[in-house]
Formats: sequence, C-alpha cells, structure tokens
Amino acid sequence: MMPKGLLIVVSGPSGAGKGTICKELLKEIDLNISISATTREPRTGEVDGKNYFFISKNEFKEMLLRNEFLEYAEVYGNYYGTPKKYVLDMLEEGKDVLLEIDIQGALSVKEIYPDGVFIFILPPSMEELKKRIEKRGSETKEAMLKRLDAAYRELKYVFKYDYGVLNDEVDSAVDNIKAIIKAEKCKVNRKKDIIDNIKEV
Ligand code: 5GP
Repeated sequence: MMPKGLLIVVSGPSGAGKGTICKELLKEIDLNISISATTREPRTGEVDGKNYFFISKNEFKEMLLRNEFLEYAEVYGNYYGTPKKYVLDMLEEGKDVLLEIDIQGALSVKEIYPDGVFIFILPPSMEELKKRIEKRGSETKEAMLKRLDAAYRELKYVFKYDYGVLNDEVDSAVDNIKAIIKAEKCKVNRKKDIIDNIKEV
C-alpha cells in the first residue's frame, strides 16, 4: 500500500507573512497547494482558480450543504473554505498538500485530521505586524485595525500547533519549514508501510 501524502497546514495571524512564505516554499519543493473558495471580492491582480475560487455567498452555501468543505471559516466578514475532494484525493495518491488557512480553520482541520503537520507563522514583533498590515493598504483603516486586534488575540493559539516558525526573514522561515517537512517524513509512525515490509533474511 502506498503511504499517504503529508498534509501541511500553514497558519497564523493576518500579516504574519504566511502567503509570501507559502509562495516561496512552493517554488522550492514539490507540494500541491489547495486553492480555497471565498466569497471575498478579488483584489487587483488576483486570478480566479489560481489565488482563490471566487464564488458568491449562495454558491458557498450550496457547497456547504453538499458537505464539500474540509473546513471553512468566516474571516473579517467573508467566507473561506477548503474544498475537501482535492485535498483527500491528493493525500490518497501519496502527494503532499499545503493548506494556507486562518487559525479557526487550522484548528478544525486538526480535529478531523490530527495526522497533519500544523505550523504557526509568528511575526517578528507587533510593530512589524502592524507595518505589514498597513502596507497591504487594500482595506479601510477600520478593517486594518480589526485585523491588528484579531492578530494580537490570535497569537496565543500558537501553543495548539506542532511548530512555530518566526518570520523575521522569508528565506530562513522557508528553510525551517523545509526542515520540519523532512523531519516529519522520517517519523517512524509515518514509515509503517516500509517497516512492515522489512523481512528477516
Ligand atoms: P485574504 O483575504 O487576505 O486572502 O485571507 C484572509 C485570511 O483567510 C488569511 O488568514 C488566509 O490564510 C485565510 N484563508 C484563506 N483561505 C482559507 C480557507 O480556505 N479556510 C480558512 N479557514 N481560512 C482561509
């Protein structure tokens, strides 16, 4: 039997830099990123089917009723969900899957799929986090303050994760995640198939 792929969940507060880290990670190692569905409006430059599947609230509701999400969450007034089929099919085929999702979503994935690897991206400081959220500039002042406040409250969830990766520099954060993935793949409980096949000679 082929071993299952690894489910890697990269999460953390808004502005911690998860997006940039995941983009770099995908360039360096062979991972399949799950594309989420969202009811949020696309930002300039975002492409449907690449960044997200941009869908209406009704479509989202229908997917929800059909039980098509592995997890979903409401983030700052918009809905985001991970389509279940893609993720489970990939894992079944032995391929590794990357989810870049918010904290609520990561915690619900952990409930149903504890075999995943849960990585929390930590901002180097609150000042830096504030700068990053402000730099995004795509939201109103009120929305930015809301994000900052939420990010501050969310930091305490780091202890529910397997790993915390400090994002002071993207390259070193990416290196750390690569090391985590390598180590996770060597865990004996993930090697059961190989070990069962070792026969005495
Ligand atoms: P943004 O609107 O900035 O693209 O994303 C807002 C937040 O939603 C980010 O923290 C992002 O990681 C999270 N997010 C994106 N897709 C999903 C998803 O499928 N599920 C959950 N729970 N969060 C998501």
